[in-house]
Order: sequence, then structure tokens, then C-alpha cells
Amino acid sequence: MDLLLKDKVFIVTGGAKGIGEAIVAELAREGAIPVIVGRSEEAGSLLEGKLKDAGHSCLNIITELYDPESSEQVISQTLEKLGAIHGIVNNAGVNDGAGLENGDPELFRKSVLSNLMHYYDMVHYALPELKKTKGAIINISSKTAITGQGGTSGYAASKGAQLALTREWAVELAQYGIRVNAIVPAEVMTPQYERWINSFDDSERSLNEIISRIPLEKRMTSSEEIAAMAVFMLSERSSHTTGQWLVVDGGYVHFDRAYNK
Ligand code: NAP
Repeated sequence: MDLLLKDKVFIVTGGAKGIGEAIVAELAREGAIPVIVGRSEEAGSLLEGKLKDAGHSCLNIITELYDPESSEQVISQTLEKLGAIHGIVNNAGVNDGAGLENGDPELFRKSVLSNLMHYYDMVHYALPELKKTKGAIINISSKTAITGQGGTSGYAASKGAQLALTREWAVELAQYGIRVNAIVPAEVMTPQYERWINSFDDSERSLNEIISRIPLEKRMTSSEEIAAMAVFMLSERSSHTTGQWLVVDGGYVHFDRAYNK
């Protein structure tokens, strides 16, 4: 299937590592022009170099997404250099453990600021362009929005709000032909996940326990499997799908608890 993405411009926040990196790489393979947005200069330059060496086009923007100005600058730099925006993948986020018992109001606010606000800011500043291109928006949320995790109020609140905004924006933007969907991952081995699992005393045992509970094939979801869904949802091939929460997790969240094969 030709996804018809050639030369289209897609902004991917947190695009230099993990799930974002896989989305950027898949977009490049499809002939699109990914805009890598992230705060790690080293990771951004490394990926930009790899893509350019393989003959792909991309733009690399280094910024910490926190204040509205950083998102505004991402949009203006993209337009200055590439002239159009066909879609946004809001993906940057950190499960930072700002909890109820283990946190405080200041940590909670900081967590919501760094996990949620730039999802809104990015779309707000890109909207005039997205209207012109009938662009697509993907919000990468998390299973914690549905299941909770414990000890991570700021992150869970942000991820839940991203699902609500997905539906809210899908309604508001349908009149412009702009589609808005969310992808909900659960267990994906990325640099962030690796840091988290290594924080356990017996990380190997903890990982094996998690994997044993994933119904489909008793394995983690790969970043590439999330990316394949994201790239399809960005493409015109998913032209009548909007407002959806796509749970790409091997059945982890929704299978009957009695399932034990
Ligand atoms: P990752 O390995 O940490 O990669 C994310 C990238 O985004 C990193 O380069 C990170 O920079 C960057 N980033 C994070 N916050 C940023 C900010 N405020 N401004 C600029 N750059 C920022 O994470 P991942 O596991 O791929 O997660 C990607 C998304 O998937 C997140 O929204 C996460 O909530 C969601 N998710 C992941 C899983 C999973 O199992 N991995 C499960 C559910 C949901 P640094 O390297 O400097 O931190």
C-alpha cells in the first residue's frame, strides 16, 4: 500500500529516541520529511546524521518543551525551513513519578507542565497550517491513563487528559478535515523504559513477570509496531478514522483477566 506520504512534513516531539525515533525513521522510509524535536542535542544529531547518510530529508530542532514559546518556535522554524506542516505527533513525555504520597503539589504541577501542556501548545501554533493541509494529529498517551499505575499522579493525569483532548479536538477540527487520534502503548522497550525497569532490585525478574502477562506472544510491543500504527494514522489511508484511542499493546489492557494461555 502506498501511504502517499512523499515530501509531506511531520513534526515528531521526543523524536530522537525510543518510540519517537521509530516514528521518525518510518516516516523517512516512506519518503516523508520528519521534524525531530527533542532536548538531547547528541541524540538528535545522531539520528539526523543517520537519516541523511541514508539519503533521507529531515529537520532537527533541539528544544526543551515546557513553555508555549518553545512550541511556537518549533512551528515557526519548521515553516521557515520546510514551508508546510502535514501532521503533528505529540510524543515527548516522561513517567516522572510525581505521585500523591511520594510527591507534592509543586512536583505535580511540574509534571503536568512537562507532560501535557506542549501537546496543546504544539497543536495551537500549528493549527493555521493544519487547516491548509487537512493535517493529522496523533497524541501518544499511555495505558496508565486507563489502568493507573500508582505513584505517578502527574504523568497519569497528563496521559488521561491527552485522551480527552484527542476526542475534544477530533470534534472541534472535523469541520476542517483534520483528524485526531491517540495511540496508547503499554510496555515498549525504549531508553526510558530501560531506565525504569533497571530501577527495580531484581530488574530481570520484574521484566519477565511483566512479559508473562502480555497475552499476545508473551512479548513486549516494539517501537516499530507503535510507529507503523502512527504512520498509517498520519496517512490519507486512514482518512475516515478520527477521535480514536488505538491501544497497541498485545491485548495487555483489555483482555479478560481469565486469559492464561
Ligand atoms: P524515551 O525513550 O524517553 O524517548 C522520549 C524522548 O523525548 C527522549 O529523547 C526525551 O529526552 C524526549 N523528551 C521527553 N520530554 C521532553 C521534553 N519536555 N522536551 C523535549 N524532549 C523531551 O521515551 P519513550 O518510552 O519512547 O516514550 C515516548 C512516549 O510514549 C511518551 O509520551 C510516553 O509516555 C509514551 N509511552 C511509552 C511507553 C513505553 O513502554 N515505553 C508506554 C506508554 C506510553 P531525554 O532523553 O533527554 O529524556
